[in-house]
Amino acid sequence: MTENEARASLVDTARRMTPLGINTGRAGNVSLRWHRGGEDGLLVTPSALAYERTTIDDIVWLALAAPQGEDPLADSPRRAHGTRAPSSEWRLHRDLYATRSDAQAIVHAHPAHATALACLPRIHAEGIPAFHYMIAVAGGDDIRCAPYATFGTKALSDHARRALEGRRACLLAQHGAVALGTSLEAALELAVEVETLARMYWLALQLGEPARLDAAAMAEVHARFARYRPDPG
Ligand SMILES: [Zn+2]
Repeated sequence: MTENEARASLVDTARRMTPLGINTGRAGNVSLRWHRGGEDGLLVTPSALAYERTTIDDIVWLALAAPQGEDPLADSPRRAHGTRAPSSEWRLHRDLYATRSDAQAIVHAHPAHATALACLPRIHAEGIPAFHYMIAVAGGDDIRCAPYATFGTKALSDHARRALEGRRACLLAQHGAVALGTSLEAALELAVEVETLARMYWLALQLGEPARLDAAAMAEVHARFARYRPDPG
C-alpha cells in the first residue's frame, strides 16, 4: 500500500462511520500506523473538517517517538506533517500506538448507544458485562469503560490504555468508544460490533436485569473464536 492509498482508506473509513450508525457530524477520528522515512508514526484524520469534505491531502502524519531523553508519553506536541492540524484526539491515537504493538488501526467514535451507556454509573463500575457471547470480540469477558477525562488530554489516553489492557475496545465515560484493529477494516468492524452490543444491552436493560454468561462459558467462546475468527481485529 502506498501512502496515498493509506490516506484514501482513512478518508473512506471516516466517511463510512456515519452511514454505519456509529457517528454523527464531525465527531470521532480514525488513524493508521504508518512508517515514514524509517520513522514510526501514524496517519490521522484532521481536526474540525467534515468527512465529506476531507481529502487525502488533509490527512496528517505524526511521529510516534518522543525527542531523545523525553518520556514517550509526555504531554508535549509531536512533530506533525500536514496542511491541517491533526484531530484533537491525536494523543489518544499516538499513546495507544506507542504502547500497543498489536494496534495497526484505531477507530474512535461517539456511537449513540455505546455513549449513552457510558454515561451510567453502573457501566462506569463494571463496563458492559458478558450478557451476550459476542462480548468476546473485544478480547475479554467484558467491555470496560474508561473514567471520564477531558478530550485530547494525557489523562484520557492513560484511562483508555488501562481500560484496553487485554482488550481491543473500550467505552469512554461521557464521551464515546475506541476500537483497535490489525487493519482499518477490522477496527471499523469492531467499532460497529461494540455499538450493536451496546444497543442490545440497552434494550435488555429496559426489560429487567440481563442474565450473564459465566467465566467457563466465555472461555469456550474465546477458544472457538481462536479457531473460527483467527483475526477478529
Ligand atoms: Zn471523541
